[in-house]
Amino acid sequence: MKPRFYIILSTVALVILLIVQLYNISVTFDTKFEVFNTQYGDAARKALYEYQTINSDFQPDSVFILFDYYAEDFIYKIQDALPGEDRDSLKHNLLNIYLRILHGNTMPDVFLRDYLEKAGFNPDFRSGYHITELSLLDFDLLIPVFRDTTGELPTGFKWSLSAYSHAVEGNFYRIRYEYLIDFTDRTAIIYRDMMITLVLAVLTIVIVLIVFILTMRNMLIQKRLSDMKTDFINNMTHELKTPLSTIAVASSTLSDESMQKDQEKVKQISGMINKQNKHLTQLIDRILDISIWEKDQIRLKRKEVHIYEFMEEKIKLFQLENNGNGVNITADYNLDKDFVMLDDIHMTTVLNNLWSNAVKYCEGNPRIEMKVSLNAKLLIRVRDNGIGMRKEEQKHVYDKFYRAGKGDFKTVKGLGLGLYYVKQIVTAHGGEIELQSHPGKGSTFTITIPTEKE
Ligand code: ADP
Repeated sequence: MKPRFYIILSTVALVILLIVQLYNISVTFDTKFEVFNTQYGDAARKALYEYQTINSDFQPDSVFILFDYYAEDFIYKIQDALPGEDRDSLKHNLLNIYLRILHGNTMPDVFLRDYLEKAGFNPDFRSGYHITELSLLDFDLLIPVFRDTTGELPTGFKWSLSAYSHAVEGNFYRIRYEYLIDFTDRTAIIYRDMMITLVLAVLTIVIVLIVFILTMRNMLIQKRLSDMKTDFINNMTHELKTPLSTIAVASSTLSDESMQKDQEKVKQISGMINKQNKHLTQLIDRILDISIWEKDQIRLKRKEVHIYEFMEEKIKLFQLENNGNGVNITADYNLDKDFVMLDDIHMTTVLNNLWSNAVKYCEGNPRIEMKVSLNAKLLIRVRDNGIGMRKEEQKHVYDKFYRAGKGDFKTVKGLGLGLYYVKQIVTAHGGEIELQSHPGKGSTFTITIPTEKE
């Protein structure tokens, strides 16, 4: 199956898991909400029942006297008012007066708070009254003032409990009301109760997410590795084919009798075979080197190297070998010391790899600027005027078999091992390599190696 299919499938599974977990949390919350209401509601009702037994009644008589007083007053006012808005506003006023009387006179809150605390409940709550029905009575006349047909609780008390409901009939009124209690910490208490469920749900999601990310990452790495391997095999086949076919053509030419008489030609062709053979050996050695490194650490053979002489000799040699490419190498030195401990053979390869890359990945005449300084550290900087690299490519240049660029420069020969080798050698010397590059503006590799005495 294709990786894209796996990614889509896993993402869908992850989203489903997320939805299921959220649903579970919401169901648990609802259940806990019910349990809370039952437990706290029961406790509050019990407390108020006790309050009533101790205080003989929920409200003092003054409340009912006031109810009657205002009822009698409003019966006449309402009857005298014009039907419609005037009467409605009077009724509304009366309802508010009754609510004020209830709120002003009958608050068993202190008792309730005490009771809840003793019973081990959270005692923080707000309380209030809600009138569900109010009518005025005048002998056999009944004036309806208010009747709650919606069953909705007043704003601010939407989630409260009805702890007590009462119906009273006086001389001039009939009222039905509820005593509402709203526990302020309800949500916090419920969430605290759900802590284990919440933690487990979050933990499951986080673990699955981590596994998902790691799997995706590994899959992408595997895919990149397999792409690189394919690239490497293609490049290697290409690299091996050229010398092999040259050798094949040269040896068949040699077997031609007429050719064998011309000693000069024989010498030239055998020289060619020799050169190609050397090239093949170098290629195979390089591949073998890499496989040896995988099993063992590189062992350096360090020795005292006169840095100036070493650099000048290698630069001259490289220029000589590349005289056809118009390579120009300049070097700027800043040396506090003459000698440094290095593995000169490996370091030669490092320089050659960097320089041949500067030549390979350059569209015009390669110009290489070297800066070498030696003090507490050995610094070797190689700046070229090549095609440069994008940020994304720079991240991978030291990877084994990695070859950047998709365009024309893929046709440049290479196995993607040069910079891998450079990095390994520099690291073995205890040093570091840095790259600064901009597409079209060239690249600068900076190697720093601590000197032995440090
Ligand atoms: P190779 O040259 O065999 O492909 P290297 O490991 O030497 O492998 O380099 C890896 C890749 O980095 C190259 O394929 C090339 O795309 C890019 N690269 C290396 N050096 C340079 C440079 N000086 N300028 C531009 N690109 C470079």
